[in-house]
Amino acid sequence: MTKDSFTNSILLIEDEENIRSFIFTALKNQSYKVTASASGAEGLHLAASLCPDIILLDLGLPDMDGMEVIKKLRSWTAIPIIVISARTNEHEKARALDQGADDYITKPFGTVELLARIRTSLRHSRQMQDMSSIHQKPYHYKNLTINFENHVVTLNNEIIHLTQIEYKLLTLLARNSGKVLTYTFIMEKIWGPYTDNNNQILRVNMANIRRKIEKNPATPEYVFTEIGIGYRMAEGD
Ligand code: CA
Repeated sequence: MTKDSFTNSILLIEDEENIRSFIFTALKNQSYKVTASASGAEGLHLAASLCPDIILLDLGLPDMDGMEVIKKLRSWTAIPIIVISARTNEHEKARALDQGADDYITKPFGTVELLARIRTSLRHSRQMQDMSSIHQKPYHYKNLTINFENHVVTLNNEIIHLTQIEYKLLTLLARNSGKVLTYTFIMEKIWGPYTDNNNQILRVNMANIRRKIEKNPATPEYVFTEIGIGYRMAEGD
């Protein structure tokens, strides 16, 4: 069966009827192909048989913990997972992301926010598939440009001087722009898997980057703090 390239398919795993039908309708209206399930076990089964382009997953399911669903999915697939959760606990969100979820959205949320997150995740997974194309197009948003090819960062067409760590940090965020990256993920990517859990070094470097690229570091335009979770860089054009 060939997949219609214009129609993205979405698997929705959510046990609350109201939320399920709200999301189902919102996605149908956008011409997504949606399949919904109210349980973790059935959701896993459908994920394997349908291979959807994206999975929306509620963490609080009746038959199994959503965290377990993420773990099981990640054992065989990289399909983007967006966690939909009533839990406002930052630890839970960070854990879901570290477990392999791509993003999260907290209930209650509006259709506009949901659709934006879905588009971002779909774009990321397409980019991942295109990774083989050697040339990565520069990150550009407002007055900031990052050229990955020649390692040049410019703000208002002027070169910004970054340390090696600052550059690695900024490009990691830019390559994942629009997506929240957890402290743990960033620490491991930049300082390696054996670094301690102290985020101080990350915060210091981030403060330095902000001083260099943000007009007002207290109200950033490019790199946002997700309190208790990590950082999210503004999605590039
Ligand atoms: Ca639930």
